[in-house]
Amino acid sequence: MVMKLEEWTPAEQAELNRNVLTTTLDNVKAWARSNSMWPMTFGLACCAIEMMGTGAAHYDLDRFGSFFRASPRQSDVMIVAGTVTKKMAPLLRRLYDQMPEPKWVIAMGSCATAGGPYVKSYAVVKGVDQVVPVDVYIPGCPPNPAALIYGIHKLQEKIRYEARTGEKVTDR
Ligand code: SF4
Repeated sequence: MVMKLEEWTPAEQAELNRNVLTTTLDNVKAWARSNSMWPMTFGLACCAIEMMGTGAAHYDLDRFGSFFRASPRQSDVMIVAGTVTKKMAPLLRRLYDQMPEPKWVIAMGSCATAGGPYVKSYAVVKGVDQVVPVDVYIPGCPPNPAALIYGIHKLQEKIRYEARTGEKVTDR
C-alpha cells in the first residue's frame, strides 16, 4: 500500500526531509560543473603573475577543482589576465571559439576589464568584453590571488544560480 505524504506523521516527514535529497538534473550538472572548472590560461601581462601565484602551493587553486589547461579543447573557463592588444584580440577570440560549450570568461584586472593604465593607447582593447562575452570582472592592478579566488567563487555561484532559476545573470 502506498501512503500519501499527508498521511505521514510529522516525525516521519522530518525523517524523510533529513534523509532524502530531491533536485533536478540541471542542478546536479551545475554543481558538478561549478566544482570542476578547468581554466584556460590567457596570461598576457603582469596580472598573469598573480594568476600563476593562485595556482601555486600557497593559494592552491586546485582545492576548488580548478586545474589550468593549456588547450582550449579541454577548458571551460578563460581567465584573461592582462592587457589585450588589438593584435592579440583575434587570436583570443579564435581560442574562445575553440572551447566547447558551456564556457565562461573571467576578466582579471583593470586592463582586461577596461584597458587599465593603457586606456588611452591606440593599440589596446578597452575591455575584453569587446571581443568575448565576460561573466565575471575582477578589479585591481593587479588583483591578488585572493581576489581571483573570490572571482572564481562568484562564477561558481552564478553557474549554480542560473541552473536553479533559469535566469541569465549579467555582471554589468
Ligand atoms: S591591470 Fe595592471 S597589473 Fe594587470 S596587466 Fe594591466 S597594468 Fe599589469
